[in-house]
Amino acid sequence: MLLSIAQQRSRVKDMDFAPSPRAADLTARVRAFVDTEIEPVEPGILRDVAGRRARGEDAWPPPAVVGELQAKARQQGLWNLFLPAGHGDAYAARFGTDGGAGLTTTDYAAVAEQTGRSALAPLVFNCNAPDTGNMEVLLRYGSPEQQQEWLEPLLDGRVRSTFLMTEPGVASSDATTMEATATLDGGDVVLDGRKWWSTGAGHPDCRVGIFMGLTDPAAHRHGQHSMVVVPLQAPGVTVERMLTALGQYDEPLGHGEVTLRGVRLPSSAILAGPGRAFEIAQGRLGPGRVHHCMRLIGLAEKSLELACERASTRVAFGKPIANLGGNRERLARARIAINSARLLVQHAAWKLDTVGIEGAQSEVSEIKAAVPQMACDVIDLAIQLHGGGGMSEDFPLAAAYAGARSLRLADGPDEVHLGVVARHLLRPYAVRAAAAAPAGATPAATPASTPEVAR
Ligand SMILES: Cc1cc2nc3c(=O)[nH]c(=O)nc-3n(C[C@H](O)[C@H](O)[C@H](O)COP(=O)(O)OP(=O)(O)OC[C@H]3O[C@@H](n4cnc5c(N)ncnc54)[C@H](O)[C@@H]3O)c2cc1C
Repeated sequence: MLLSIAQQRSRVKDMDFAPSPRAADLTARVRAFVDTEIEPVEPGILRDVAGRRARGEDAWPPPAVVGELQAKARQQGLWNLFLPAGHGDAYAARFGTDGGAGLTTTDYAAVAEQTGRSALAPLVFNCNAPDTGNMEVLLRYGSPEQQQEWLEPLLDGRVRSTFLMTEPGVASSDATTMEATATLDGGDVVLDGRKWWSTGAGHPDCRVGIFMGLTDPAAHRHGQHSMVVVPLQAPGVTVERMLTALGQYDEPLGHGEVTLRGVRLPSSAILAGPGRAFEIAQGRLGPGRVHHCMRLIGLAEKSLELACERASTRVAFGKPIANLGGNRERLARARIAINSARLLVQHAAWKLDTVGIEGAQSEVSEIKAAVPQMACDVIDLAIQLHGGGGMSEDFPLAAAYAGARSLRLADGPDEVHLGVVARHLLRPYAVRAAAAAPAGATPAATPASTPEVAR
């Protein structure tokens, strides 16, 4: 149904993206921690990892300073801030050391922006993907036993996790094509298949994965697959190799290719019961996409700061680089792009808080299609204004670009999200066209004529 102008105005009037006083305080404290505790040591940590890799040593264990930063963040109450208001409150009080309830998506969005300024910060605050998404799944869909065995150690930072959905053998943008199997056998479920881009699989503490597999090919399209909690030390699970994303291993989490051969688990390992993978995937990815996008706003903001700094201090042809050619306008356009994207993400977060994932599908896909591209554009400008240095490891920009570029694919490629937005946009027109069509005529479009389901 199309909204009248008056209805639209009243909805706009109700919009409130302002963080609560508690969230504003947490956001300021997270920012101060990133600026004073993480950023000064981050280049040294990255050099240490690169050095170990160059010498052929094991580069995956994070340096001790990462654990020290985690302990300090936790002591200051800056731990597990992603835990959602409502169903995450009890755990937030136990494992979020400021002792308060979970934050709304709108409130956490402001925090996530600050963590996005540094590659390491999300891990330091125990707010990194894919652990946050996996913890939310265990929180919403896990049995009390699964929560005790896996959610609590994850919230405590004692173990890490991976998400095993994408497969090398099929176009995984369309999650209905997943070929790996989760076969029911008596009281067991048996997992077989090959997954890749399993983020987190490189961490030495990665102990558990959430695996998506085909259980019932005869069921309806979105009821065939199950999600299963799989211990990575179970017989038959092998991390075959670690992948690079535009040349980055992204230690200490990384992205693995993982095979599962005859992995037998009790059927109680299936999350929420067989056939519910799509429902779980939707619940997992709504808030997770807001987190990703707000972190990218922080990353773009940081990149723009570096660009302005460099362009104001480096001189070519007798002028600061900022004043050459169209650079002032390009920087101004980057400012506008970041601010516009932030408002778009805040709107999606507000929709998630006010109407839930069902009512916010278009808004969540809008940000997932828009923000990674915006971040790529801003970081690309920052690289360009840094000249050759921008491509080197002396600045964080090349790695930032790889991260933002990856997010045009991870959690579903841009095109799939644009398909979701188009479906919501065109649905009322298709309904009206169908109603107006003469009896017996085939309408030009039907409400269900686009196939995309955000994965
Ligand atoms: C750094 C990184 C981290 C990742 N982390 C994880 C993770 O932790 N767990 C996990 O399971 N996966 C992860 N992924 C995988 C990611 O989610 C998939 O790569 C993505 O969903 C696309 O699937 P695919 O690679 O099979 O591409 P395909 O499905 O083969 O698609 C290829 C291309 O086809 C085009 N296309 C597809 N659908 C449409 C459409 N409807 N309309 C128009 N064009 C279309 C798009 O251009 C798309 O990029 C990660 C990926 C990266 C790069």
